[in-house]
Amino acid sequence: MHSAGDRIDTSTAHSARVYDYILGGKDHYLVDAEAGDAMCQHWPALPVHMLENRRFMHRAGRSLAQEHGVRQFLDIGTGLPTAPNLHEVVQEVAPESRVVYVDNDPIVLAHARALLQGSPEGATAYIDADMHDPDAILDSPEFRALIDVNEPVGLMVIGILHFILPPDDRRLVQRLLEPLPSGSFLAMTIGTADFAPEEVGRVAEEYTRQGMPMALRDLPTATSLFDGMDLVDPGVTQVHKWRPGPEQDSIDDRAIAMYGAVARKP
Ligand code: SAH
Repeated sequence: MHSAGDRIDTSTAHSARVYDYILGGKDHYLVDAEAGDAMCQHWPALPVHMLENRRFMHRAGRSLAQEHGVRQFLDIGTGLPTAPNLHEVVQEVAPESRVVYVDNDPIVLAHARALLQGSPEGATAYIDADMHDPDAILDSPEFRALIDVNEPVGLMVIGILHFILPPDDRRLVQRLLEPLPSGSFLAMTIGTADFAPEEVGRVAEEYTRQGMPMALRDLPTATSLFDGMDLVDPGVTQVHKWRPGPEQDSIDDRAIAMYGAVARKP
């Protein structure tokens, strides 16, 4: 058996660690910091963009818990623990909420124990799996133990879909939604170059050059990823325009390369 540590490659950049570096975390290596710096040189707005993606997750998660009464969540592409994490957001609304986290990065796995501290009434679990293998997620003991597929589930696909290239993207999201009952929700953010095409195009090239191929989508394509679902108001928007709070007041549209939406499974 290999430990997570054996799988951590410190010679090439990893998306979870680059994200951590740019968000000001401490769980990354030199190679990730160098990659992050290169990306910020291509596009100085990158930290704002990433923070607003994270804040969309907070608002969407809170809305599902508060307004729609969702009490169980499946979070694909969790990333390194960054407070507040999804379980902290939803357990603040309802302490009994259950969250299953999924990521394929070994360094995220290494931090999973820290992430697993939820409220005593609720529960959290962590699955080391790849979104390209949705059945490994749905058949896992953790998913089966925590998620009751007779009750609505919030499927969170936040800040990961740009790493899932077409044509897999649609099929994988659909497969994860398949066992979830009517009244479940999909909250998803989708990378786009619609607002700063040159700069964001260069960041995507840099990610690809560093071994992390990236797909960006225009608005019609992003919207079509919710086909078959009922979009919740205000539909597909840039993440900072989805039910913005005062924090979103002064944000320049050109700094945000992410669409986001919440939709209900009919
Ligand atoms: N959802 C978090 C983190 C986004 S960073 C947030 O929005 O704040 C993207 C995460 O997706 C990283 O942690 C990376 O390891 C993970 N990831 C990328 N490709 C993946 C895949 N194919 N399967 C599972 N996780 C993946």
